[in-house]
Amino acid sequence: MSEDNSEIIVDVNVFDIIQKAYEEHFNRRKNKLGCSELPFCPRKIIISRLYNIPFENKMIMLHGKIHHAVIQQPNVLRELVKTLYQQLNIKNSKINVTTEKYLIHELLPGKFLEAHVDIDISDFLIEIKTTARPLKYWAKELSEYHVIQLNTYLGLTKKQLGFILLINLRAYFSDIIDFNDVWNKYGCFLPVKFNQELFENTLEKAKKMFILMKHGDFNIKGPVYEWECRYCPKQIQEICNKTKHAQSKI
Ligand code: SF4
Repeated sequence: MSEDNSEIIVDVNVFDIIQKAYEEHFNRRKNKLGCSELPFCPRKIIISRLYNIPFENKMIMLHGKIHHAVIQQPNVLRELVKTLYQQLNIKNSKINVTTEKYLIHELLPGKFLEAHVDIDISDFLIEIKTTARPLKYWAKELSEYHVIQLNTYLGLTKKQLGFILLINLRAYFSDIIDFNDVWNKYGCFLPVKFNQELFENTLEKAKKMFILMKHGDFNIKGPVYEWECRYCPKQIQEICNKTKHAQSKI
């Protein structure tokens, strides 16, 4: 039996809906800083909150989310955890795995640091990152901003070891059919040991940002990485450029 569905017209812009939902999510965060923001330009973070800058197109983030969802599937996680424990030679009969673990840490009264841990396993954490660059760029040296983020999670969860699980999005364009080959070529685990001093410095930076925000002040040095200005939203760049003379060292 065939049904005539021609009268049902659905005109939905899915990406628009996702973008609006993200905007709402970010606009609610005036009293919160995310650990993933902390490694980057503090001027950008402060200006975006003080001026209520609308959310920029973050569709690339959605690719990341899709990969997170795949890795966090119970059957994938089971294999992942088993393999990692074997390779690390850790014997643990009670392994707890939590995905999407949210932590809130009060840095100053009413001002919070928000952590969103991708995978928390009894003995370590895993932070999933997707990249458009070939893995050879990352394998020798972890990027500092990934380390700062994961190190903050380690400090908040009181763990000593974590892994960045890097996935290269070029896997989509690969003509390799064998899944293991794709995985070996386009995914890798990079270990990060907890660094107490880095953790304390990161929390200090976050506290300073909250204090500056309270006074409506973004008299703080930026960017941290030279390339950040190229990707900075236009509205933030304009405000930033007008006030460049006001920059000083944090
Ligand atoms: S333009 Fe550069 S220095 Fe200014 S807020 Fe953006 S990233 Fe920071």
